[in-house]
Amino acid sequence: MSGALLITGASRGIGAACAIAAAADGWAVGVNYNSNAAAAEKVVGAITASGGHAIALPGNVAREADVRAMYDGLEAAFGPVRGLINNAGILDAPARLVDIDLARWQRIFDTNTTGSFLVLREALRRMEAAGNGGAVVNMSSMAAPLGAANEFVDYAASKGAVESMTIGLAREMAPLGIRINAIRPGLIDTDMQKTPGGGDRLARLMHSVPMGRAGRADEVAAAAVWLLSDAASYITGAIIPVSGGR
Ligand code: NAP
Repeated sequence: MSGALLITGASRGIGAACAIAAAADGWAVGVNYNSNAAAAEKVVGAITASGGHAIALPGNVAREADVRAMYDGLEAAFGPVRGLINNAGILDAPARLVDIDLARWQRIFDTNTTGSFLVLREALRRMEAAGNGGAVVNMSSMAAPLGAANEFVDYAASKGAVESMTIGLAREMAPLGIRINAIRPGLIDTDMQKTPGGGDRLARLMHSVPMGRAGRADEVAAAAVWLLSDAASYITGAIIPVSGGR
């Protein structure tokens, strides 16, 4: 499968690695970012320098109008959307649930869960109208099944909702030739692991990784691009850990 692909939160980390890998696999990539235009342009530059196709697309996934504008920009540049990596996500400092205030809970859910809903809904509306199938990868987290006790139960719950959407939407969209899967990254070495107050989280939790090391963003990207590809043509509703056995 190839064509126009939107990747949310692609200015750095896992999203940026997905953009590079997807472009190398033949996708024309919309590199969405929230605040860091320069970082997104750098990702676009790396792709075009290698002969690929990409465009930077600003927008906050939690804002309905921004989400529509992202797809309008993608489709104006590269034609009807056929792929989505629903990747943008945020985390806050480690805290017990009893100490988490409503504002934080809403901030996490706005981006991770409501943002996922808006980004998915717009992609699926457009894919359904085009009638040409499609493929989606949602970025969940090992926090969803593990619960992230004493750290981020809010974040874990926001990703649990993403997993439920993956399962339900896979079944809703299968008759239309649209596949929807998810990845559960484990401890991946990106900026997200450097949340204020989190200390050296990778070092602290390394004992819990059977493979004994943190994952790399490109290792998550490889799984995402494979799930989008025709090599995964009979896979939908799957939730795949990329976590070194965690
Ligand atoms: P990251 O390095 O912190 O990058 C986050 C990206 O999301 C950035 O490009 C950021 O854009 C974008 N973003 C944040 N809020 C946004 C919003 N409201 N609208 C649009 N874009 C937004 O994170 P990462 O480690 O690559 O994580 C990517 C995904 O994998 C997330 O969903 C995360 O929950 C999941 N995950 C990560 C790990 C890990 O260990 N790293 C583990 C499990 C799951 P700007 O820079 O422009 O603000």
